[in-house]
Amino acid sequence: ASGYPLLRDPRYNKGLSFNEKERDGHFLRGLLPPVVISQDLQVKKMMHNIRQYQVPLQRYMAMMDLQERNERLFYKLLIDNVEELLPVVYTPTVGEACQKYGSIFRQPQGLFISLKEKGRILDVLKNWPEKKVQVIVVTDGERILGLGDLGCQGMGIPVGKLSLYTALGGIRPSECLPVTIDVGTNNEQLLNDEFYIGLRRKRATGQEYAELLHEFMCAVKQIYGEKVIIQFEDFANHNAFDLLAKYGSTHLVFNDDIQGTASVVLAGLMAALKLVGGTLADHSFLFLGAGEAGTGIADLIALQISKQTGAPLEEARRKIWLVDSKGLIVRSRIDSLQHFKRPWAHEHEPVDNLLDAVKAIKPTVLIGSSGAGRTFTKEVVQAMASYNKKPVILALSNPTSQSECTAEEAYMWSEGRAIFASGSPFAPVEYNGKFYASGQSNNAYIFPGFGLGLIISGAIRVHDDMLLAASEALAAQVSQENLEKGLLYPPFANIRKISAQIAAKVAAKVYELGLATRLPQPQNLVEYAESSMYSPRYHNYR
Ligand code: NAP
Ligand code: MN
Repeated sequence: ASGYPLLRDPRYNKGLSFNEKERDGHFLRGLLPPVVISQDLQVKKMMHNIRQYQVPLQRYMAMMDLQERNERLFYKLLIDNVEELLPVVYTPTVGEACQKYGSIFRQPQGLFISLKEKGRILDVLKNWPEKKVQVIVVTDGERILGLGDLGCQGMGIPVGKLSLYTALGGIRPSECLPVTIDVGTNNEQLLNDEFYIGLRRKRATGQEYAELLHEFMCAVKQIYGEKVIIQFEDFANHNAFDLLAKYGSTHLVFNDDIQGTASVVLAGLMAALKLVGGTLADHSFLFLGAGEAGTGIADLIALQISKQTGAPLEEARRKIWLVDSKGLIVRSRIDSLQHFKRPWAHEHEPVDNLLDAVKAIKPTVLIGSSGAGRTFTKEVVQAMASYNKKPVILALSNPTSQSECTAEEAYMWSEGRAIFASGSPFAPVEYNGKFYASGQSNNAYIFPGFGLGLIISGAIRVHDDMLLAASEALAAQVSQENLEKGLLYPPFANIRKISAQIAAKVAAKVYELGLATRLPQPQNLVEYAESSMYSPRYHNYR
């Protein structure tokens, strides 16, 4: 493109950064004011503008506008100011954006595939302008963060996740495809909302659902090949586990809520061991929430314990307990349990609430994966603190409103002894004249680097050992200084370096398992990962 359309093309637009030669050569004279400024000054100006907005959603909209206007500047901003802007384009603000997507929606981003497109999904994919796609993040909107069924408005999630794939993992934006599958919604409020953008019907289930998903999965493979990563995101658990199992042997699929979350939490626990001592097998774990996140994490912890001790999985699982909405998962409930909960139904008398479960199990680690806010009550945290010198407490649920407790509560109620991290960020807390910082236990640490590792090795399948490799790589990035501050994760400011480390370890595992297609294996995988990353710096146009 050149001239006016060039200024309207977000992929190539540089705004006031077009230099004199480019303005002459590309028919831009007069279309821009006289001044020529650097990209760095553009970043400074945009940050200044964004900071003027006090309402988080306005910041989100300003960022989305920028993405639609000048893609490189958007990514430069995000990369250079990742700690400040992550909460804007990602949790917690993205949750609010999804809730209001119908009315803030301007330029459509990504592909919407609804039941209307049944039988012609291949044609829909052909409408997407990019021919080379490496990562698809797809949702059906049924379990958006801890906010429930947001139907078609869940699109904010794949869009946000893919922004992070680029900013944190260096995948080129042109190679990222956000998809929302719209099979209806059971959210009455949305069905009655005149601004709702999705199909106005109840969710399709059973065969109707499975057929649409299957057509999508086949069409994706047909058009983009078998090395495209398909990341399932924010599906309800009654579909998520089945989809992962069904397509795990035919596609390069990854469920971020089950697998990415497991990997990031295991990394945090590996770091926590340096503060509390012992090995994983020496600890006992209690979860509130036995869905995708809870059982996914539990599975990976058990796998790691079993690898470390040589004990069979069934034995490793005995140190791990889960509570769901009906109480502690115990043997006597087995017949009524969903299949993913059954491995956790240990012998124990029934316990119907979290506090009593904490008292009965006396865990050293308490993990919130319930989507239910404020469920780690004062009594629960105090009980944890009464059994443990340093209770490890992770409140994973997003967005902030759904966090099982706040950072302040965790420190206050444990008299400053908790080792705390949360899914959405909390500012440092002052308690008794001391400052406590907490890490963000969020799969955003894992999936960008994990995906990069799959891509640079040309992986064709995902394997649990790759998740363990990612955990170890991330945990290795936590410095003594981070730990002394109470941080179980390194700051996001270094995320691109961290992602390269994760990518290298994941890729090495892909090669080791014989699942790589990019041969020969590069000599230095860290360097290779770094050199493969997208840079948001402008190019010079001749
Ligand atoms: P999910 O599959 O729907 O599982 C939720 C689980 O929590 C279910 O077992 C449910 O019980 C249980 N539960 C809900 N309310 C409860 C309550 N009041 N008391 C006890 N248990 C309760 O959801 P998910 O995918 O695991 O996600 C759960 C939360 O984790 C969401 O808020 C999500 O944002 C968050 N998450 C965070 C990250 C991260 O990186 N930090 C990653 C993924 C997910 P029943 O089975 O009995 O219904
Ligand atoms: Mn998710």
